[in-house]
Amino acid sequence: AALREGYERFDPRAYLQNNYLPPRADFSSEEFVVPWKLRCLAETFASGEIHGRTLIDVGSGPTIYQLLSACDHFEEIVATDYLAVNREELGRWARGDPGTFDWSPFIQHVCKIEGRGEPRQEKERRRRARLRRILPIDVHRAEPLGAPLSPPADALLSAFCLEAVSPDRAAFARALAHVGSLLRPGGHLLLLGALGESFYLAGPARLPVVPLAEPDVRAALAAA
Ligand code: SAH
Repeated sequence: AALREGYERFDPRAYLQNNYLPPRADFSSEEFVVPWKLRCLAETFASGEIHGRTLIDVGSGPTIYQLLSACDHFEEIVATDYLAVNREELGRWARGDPGTFDWSPFIQHVCKIEGRGEPRQEKERRRRARLRRILPIDVHRAEPLGAPLSPPADALLSAFCLEAVSPDRAAFARALAHVGSLLRPGGHLLLLGALGESFYLAGPARLPVVPLAEPDVRAALAAA
């Protein structure tokens, strides 16, 4: 209940400001968290092992940086979030409405680190074209999307979500198992997050995060 109340005050614009503008989104060095995240994703997808028809991004928030490397390897990307305000923000971006957050420095950086000389405009076009669905989700439900996706996803991606919406480690492990039900057997799950994190900011909302150690994550994955 406390978490739900916190998310009622979640302001997408403030979240983007707190987490996706400098100093965090400083592309001059990988000491900064945003270029680190983009590098993790670019390297993971560069392996060529993770591809298919559908990728579901769990708890997308109002952000698309996590989909930039993924979008080259899937026909369809499904973004999801619990909050309507975040789904609306994503929808505005996907439609190309004026005044939405400017992701172009992120797109430019990803094109650079992928090193294929792809023009930024081409990646942006593909990104918008492949983001076909933006769905409500609740990872605390046994069926997070309300009904199973058919066919199930070839891959799941979740960035800074499960630990940020779970009151304790047991809830994190349950959420992981719920989300796993969306994945086809043999599919891939990509989890991106920070260990030992205790809170983050979204304007007036200070959201608690369950601080995880690597063995907690490994145990939850094994159990799920
Ligand atoms: N993936 C984004 C956002 C992470 S913030 C990024 O990397 O920046 C955590 C997100 O989880 C928020 O967008 C929040 O709205 C969402 N969320 C909150 N409760 C949730 C729930 N019960 N199920 C799924 N997502 C939830």
